Amino acid sequence: MRDDLIYLDYAATTPLDPQVAELMSAMLKNDTSFANSSAVHIAGRRASVIVEQAAAQLARLLNCAPAELIWTSGATESNNLAITGAARYRTHRGKHLITMPTEHKAVADVFRALETQGFDVTWLSPDESGSLDLQDLDAAFRDDTTLVSIMYVNNETGVLQDIAAIGERCRNRDVLFHVDAAQGVGKLPFDLASLPVDLASMTAHKVYGPTGIGALYIADRPRCHVEPLYYGGGQQHGVRPGTLPVTLIAAFGLAAEIATSSMATDFEHVQALRERLWAGLQPIAGVVRNGDAENSYPGILNVSIDDIEGESLLLALEPLCVATGSACNSQNQEPSYVLRALGRDDALAQSAVRVSFGRMSTESEIDFAVERYRESVERLRAIAPGRAASAT
Ligand SMILES: *Cc1c(COP(=O)(O)O)cnc(C)c1O
Repeated sequence: MRDDLIYLDYAATTPLDPQVAELMSAMLKNDTSFANSSAVHIAGRRASVIVEQAAAQLARLLNCAPAELIWTSGATESNNLAITGAARYRTHRGKHLITMPTEHKAVADVFRALETQGFDVTWLSPDESGSLDLQDLDAAFRDDTTLVSIMYVNNETGVLQDIAAIGERCRNRDVLFHVDAAQGVGKLPFDLASLPVDLASMTAHKVYGPTGIGALYIADRPRCHVEPLYYGGGQQHGVRPGTLPVTLIAAFGLAAEIATSSMATDFEHVQALRERLWAGLQPIAGVVRNGDAENSYPGILNVSIDDIEGESLLLALEPLCVATGSACNSQNQEPSYVLRALGRDDALAQSAVRVSFGRMSTESEIDFAVERYRESVERLRAIAPGRAASAT
């Protein structure tokens, strides 16, 4: 990591794996991979082989068939295509959909849009730890329910949902199950051969690949289809047409292959780092941990500090790069809607800071972060005792 900053915002986007960067620069500089992979000439066929190889690499990570993967521009597009596409495809069966308020905006706002288009959405609130109560789900199903969408790993808190149990309930009722797996793929096991999941969204830039490339898994099962959102040249069976970005796809493929072999090591690494970070932060007076300590992905630690406003802390913590709320919310000063849904009051939600780390993070970065946290909290409390830079 560059020495002018300490990057601890892996949940927003991860650095490129150096091997992936090398592959991309080689592809961009030379060879024939610039070709249109739909073209029948030799350059096109070469590009098409590169795309097929990448699909095989990603399919190995997920334990699915390469033909079950559709390339998109990222998890936002995958979520839009999966949810809107499946909801519209199944309107003959009904217009009732189920999700949670703690979803990423790229899911929640798709459902909000569908609500304005005649769909009926049930929003299931999590318990205090962030988990979905399965009995609430059981009670929410109706005869006209067609789709459930629940994320795997929450991007703000790291909290995990029980994908197997939720999926089983959906399958028993012939309801499609979509999972926003953007924060989980490549970091935690996500075995689509055994999980009862019909649609799953993912993105390369959360797993050491580049931004601008994602994928949607569409299970090869009867009735599991999505209506396209765009129309064009018929690529990818018309489900998501458009000329494929071969270099980005190859990069995602390599990132997936690296993740397949390094997932266990990466996991142990972030687990040790989170323990170290929490051990360092816990002694600070007024520290509250957001999200479940056990049932969560250990590359994310979300903490509130009683009387300290998150935005002020964020600035005081520089050159640490950490996040308040979710990255997408940084433009507004609203307290995190995810933490509000977990029952945190406005002040605690507003004081939340997310520290996230991964493969390239080091113990010394964590130690630096802890030191910086202690200094900053002390400084902010000295400036404004009682309620430092309190929320306006
Ligand atoms: C990052 C993220 C997204 C959006 O992914 P993009 O590839 O940036 O569009 C969606 N859902 C979750 C859970 C995320 O973490």
